[in-house]
Amino acid sequence: MTRRISIFGATGSVGMSTLDLIGREPDAYEVVALTAHRDVDALAQAARAHHARIAVIGEETRYTDLRDALAGSGIEAMAGPQALIDAACAGAEWTMAAIVGCAGLAPTIAALRTGGTVALANKESLVSAGALMMEAARASGATLLPVDSEHNAIFQCLAGSRFEDVSRIILTASGGPFRTRSRAEMGGITPAQAVAHPNWSMGAKISVDSATMMNKGLELIEAAHLFPIGLDRIEILVHPQSVIHSMVEFRDRSTLAQLGSPDMRIPIAHALGWPARIATPCQPLDLTRIGRLDFEAPDPVRFPALRLARDAGAAGGTAPAILNAANEVAVAAFLDGMIGFLDIAAIVEDVLSRYEVIMPSSMEDVLVADAGARDLARHVMERLTV
Ligand code: NAD
Ligand code: MG
Repeated sequence: MTRRISIFGATGSVGMSTLDLIGREPDAYEVVALTAHRDVDALAQAARAHHARIAVIGEETRYTDLRDALAGSGIEAMAGPQALIDAACAGAEWTMAAIVGCAGLAPTIAALRTGGTVALANKESLVSAGALMMEAARASGATLLPVDSEHNAIFQCLAGSRFEDVSRIILTASGGPFRTRSRAEMGGITPAQAVAHPNWSMGAKISVDSATMMNKGLELIEAAHLFPIGLDRIEILVHPQSVIHSMVEFRDRSTLAQLGSPDMRIPIAHALGWPARIATPCQPLDLTRIGRLDFEAPDPVRFPALRLARDAGAAGGTAPAILNAANEVAVAAFLDGMIGFLDIAAIVEDVLSRYEVIMPSSMEDVLVADAGARDLARHVMERLTV
């Protein structure tokens, strides 16, 4: 029995880890579609290696390059945003949503509407349009499996339990590379320093988000959609070793935790095998070597992104989409060397304080808020950099 699967964002960190796992069991999977943003060579190589039926490049202008790179392979080349949506409806039973940013929203919703299984890494789509995505999944009967390591841990801890028996979710955070830095020191941080995460190897955007702790803020909102126990019952706990990936406390005060080496192939394999388990090549957890696990409260003064995200999550409506859009623009500008590290949260705060929040009734409403908040973020940034 083979399983038809597609990977959105196949050339990224999560996408490549997913390909690594399926490449170890090639007879178990039939690859329907692989997608990438601009990297034609990496996409064509992956599509050939995994015998994909379709390869989609997000950037429309790269269509002929992709077609040429796939010449003679029999793999169909497609390009552009609509092609990403079409590929999401091309017959996969299991889809990995691993595009980075709100750019993943439309294909992820399209995949959910097919009623199949969606393994969700692309947290920005859930942050921006959580209510709509959960509703799309409910309406089609799709199965949404969290891949973000914390949410995958929570999902595992919740197995067999009822939401009403949960008293708290404890979302663990590594604290990122600047956990012990003062705010004054953070002012001079370079992009190279920010992307060097102490425990995880990840794409550039999420690495910067981990450094500002906006990643944990986005994950707080993500958790509130996936596990509806109320935002105020989801707590963040800094745990520098990244061994406990999150915990669930029940009303009897029993607490369950999920542990593992910091390797994304473990939560990806969980989503790939679910409800069964599949073997991975990952390192077994060696607690004797690790020796100790440390915990501390997060510092909201040095990491204002935590407060901004909690407030946006509590405000609801388009506030999380605005938060996310401003953050995406600010992180890209930081990576381009245009703004400083501390400017990221300052820009997000400024945009959030000025952009009107509405209750979105469709994905289009979310995309309008996303585009408007991006424009405002660029405008705020121009004033900052003159
Ligand atoms: P990455 O930057 O390594 O890869 C992103 C992928 O998305 C690439 O294939 C890229 O081509 C594609 N992409 C980027 N912009 C696009 C666009 N506009 N249109 C179409 N495709 C586009 O990112 P990553 O680290 O693999 O993260 C992917 C997602 O998974 C993010 O939402 C991230 O928050 C989440 N996530 C990642 C990790 C991790 O360990 N890397 C862990 C948890 C969650
Ligand atoms: Mg995570």
